[in-house]
Amino acid sequence: MSAPSRIGVVGAGIVGLAVARRLAQLRPDARITVVDKEADVAVHQTGHNSGVVHAGLYYAPRSLKAGLCTRGRGLLREFCADHGLAYDECGKLVVARDEGEVPALREIERRATANGVPDLRWLPGVALREVEPEAVGAAALHSPRTAVVDFAAIARAMAGELRDKGHEVRLGFEVTGVRRNLDGGVAVCSAEEAFAVDRLVVCAGLHTDRVSRLAGDGPEPAIIPFRGEYYRLVPGRSGLVRGMIYPVPDPRFPFLGVHFTRRVSGSVDIGPNAVPAAAREGYTWGRVDLRDVWATASWPGVRPLARRYWRTELAEIRASLSKRRYLASAREFVPALRDDDVVRAPAGVRAQAVDRDGALVDDFRIHRVGSVVTVRNAPSPAATSALAIGEHVADLVLADRG
Ligand SMILES: Cc1cc2nc3c(=O)[nH]c(=O)nc-3n(C[C@H](O)[C@H](O)[C@H](O)COP(=O)(O)OP(=O)(O)OC[C@H]3O[C@@H](n4cnc5c(N)ncnc54)[C@H](O)[C@@H]3O)c2cc1C
Repeated sequence: MSAPSRIGVVGAGIVGLAVARRLAQLRPDARITVVDKEADVAVHQTGHNSGVVHAGLYYAPRSLKAGLCTRGRGLLREFCADHGLAYDECGKLVVARDEGEVPALREIERRATANGVPDLRWLPGVALREVEPEAVGAAALHSPRTAVVDFAAIARAMAGELRDKGHEVRLGFEVTGVRRNLDGGVAVCSAEEAFAVDRLVVCAGLHTDRVSRLAGDGPEPAIIPFRGEYYRLVPGRSGLVRGMIYPVPDPRFPFLGVHFTRRVSGSVDIGPNAVPAAAREGYTWGRVDLRDVWATASWPGVRPLARRYWRTELAEIRASLSKRRYLASAREFVPALRDDDVVRAPAGVRAQAVDRDGALVDDFRIHRVGSVVTVRNAPSPAATSALAIGEHVADLVLADRG
């Protein structure tokens, strides 16, 4: 097949925009169209996250996550410098709350070292107070290069750059169908209109399984939404932490545990937890979508998942419903935190991919079905890694199908 001249991307989150940006660099003559159902870019995960540029501490060496996070971090730093966007290396401390957590923290240190995380330091006992005076624990790992950014601002800059180069970012276009054309290309359809492309990339976040199926990909993995709720320190107490303070995460779970994160705005958030959401865009307990509930309940992987994690999830739900319980876990490593130090902050919803057997998909997962590439799992640190995911996916899109 000749070089594709029309390429479509579904999803104007940071992943879709980074893929489009890379395609525009590699094929300046191609016409690239990014579509999103919302009225703006970055409305979902990209605009509702912790804003952390992960340095690569946790990821299994040689996984896609490890490689793309490391490369993506460097590219993101350059992008922010080139576009005058904030990139604040305020550093992160991962704290072992007691001796029992030290072996797990040593494992994180081993992975981080294998992943080439720069300037790591092991801080025994009280030494961790040099970095974070209010933190307590048996030991800590300090990653001074972990940074914070505003991922929504980065996504807006990417969209602006694409438009300046003559490409299209069409908002308010909800993809409801994808038709295969006889020439090998596809027609991307909304309820009102359609356009034809030679290649299509699906980066639809919380709906990526549905849109991928429309485009001919299989049902696995399915997306199960997990809400991440936050509290925010009131301005007078934001001096409680200098940068970021994390607990040692439960290694069986893909989430990092409730932590303290300084935002580029200077405010400090505590969170996110991980509670099952009753809607893919369920930012509050009150938001229920019966189609989403049915999609979750009918996925074969949900039963084994629930059997494995019901205790953890019950604890997460109880903490979600009780501020006192929620803050108790954060107080284990920052004891000076008081209940009246915080107010509620906006939540996010994670698109967690789950296999048919109930396994929570940990690594990034990308499929290719003929002229369509689908990004099926792009959880944290996908925002950090977006520019590197863009390179990886663009190479797949442009590779000869043979
Ligand atoms: C609470 C939380 C905290 C996180 N913290 C971090 C962090 O600190 N650091 C980090 O690196 N990562 C973090 N992440 C992960 C990160 O935010 C995501 O991995 C990343 O934003 C995924 O980007 P995306 O473009 O794939 O998805 P999204 O940003 O969700 O974009 C997908 C887009 O597809 C669009 N779409 C969906 N269906 C259709 C359709 N049918 N037609 C048209 N458009 C459609 C949606 O409107 C949306 O704009 C966090 C995530 C959450 C939820």
